[in-house]
Amino acid sequence: MTLKLGVHVSISGGISHSVDNALEIGCSAFQIFTRSPRQWKTKELTPHETDIFKEKLDNSPINPKSVVVHMPYLPNLSAPTSEMYEKSILVLTDEVTRCNMLGVPYLIIHLGSHLGQGPKNGINQLVNACRKSLDAYSDLGLPRNKVKILLENSAGQKNSIGSRIEEIQSIFHILGQNDFGLCLDTCHLFAAGYDLSTGSNVSTLIDLVDSSIGLENLKIIHLNDSKGDLGSNLDRHYHVGLGKIGEGGLKSLINNKKLSQVPFIMETPIDSIRNDADNLEFVRNVLTDSH
Ligand SMILES: [Zn+2]
Ligand SMILES: [Zn+2]
Repeated sequence: MTLKLGVHVSISGGISHSVDNALEIGCSAFQIFTRSPRQWKTKELTPHETDIFKEKLDNSPINPKSVVVHMPYLPNLSAPTSEMYEKSILVLTDEVTRCNMLGVPYLIIHLGSHLGQGPKNGINQLVNACRKSLDAYSDLGLPRNKVKILLENSAGQKNSIGSRIEEIQSIFHILGQNDFGLCLDTCHLFAAGYDLSTGSNVSTLIDLVDSSIGLENLKIIHLNDSKGDLGSNLDRHYHVGLGKIGEGGLKSLINNKKLSQVPFIMETPIDSIRNDADNLEFVRNVLTDSH
């Protein structure tokens, strides 16, 4: 089994630098933002930039199917109808277009916050936002099913949508597997109350995902340990194996045969304890059964 493993890498200096950054630390998968995640405004990607990105990726050992874009943080796709909601739909449309230009097959989205209007309203808004974006994208005459939108589970912060597998299942069933898939974040799962600290709990969770959403629709795993306690609803990522989930559970997840095709991407801190290369090495050397 060859583990597809990587981290979120920077695009500073140009989007194609992300490929160099990923290769430099030995990633076999990676994630990027296509723009600054905390700003609404961005420059258009030029065909020149996207050509260099694709060329570098083609000449690398990284399979383009193991590359993923994460939506910026500001949009809220479950918000009540407002200027902010309309802007969020535009960003989603734009990000799908950018993924297509880059040849990246997956776009990860957060499911947003209903801002007090209730989950039912939030889910309706989310479904509408996703459909509107894909329709707008089709109207540009671009091939529609090249990019899948991956729904990411949330940590269960106040008013957030998508912290329960059953809730994501119901959203996924409305949207359909043609254009949508799933990204599971281990820190968010733990913070939302799914105890992944033991092997048997991990297999129970994998079975739940398989029977509800289908493991074939699970396209990316965000491999993050949790600084917050089980069920704390805190979205605080920590170094793999050093947080509240710990080595045992994460090791059994990484080595689960049912997940052997799914790329694992870390979004862990960079501090005096470890950097990205250290977390990669730890997973490869300590947590992987066959390496
Ligand atoms: Zn995310
Ligand atoms: Zn997070």
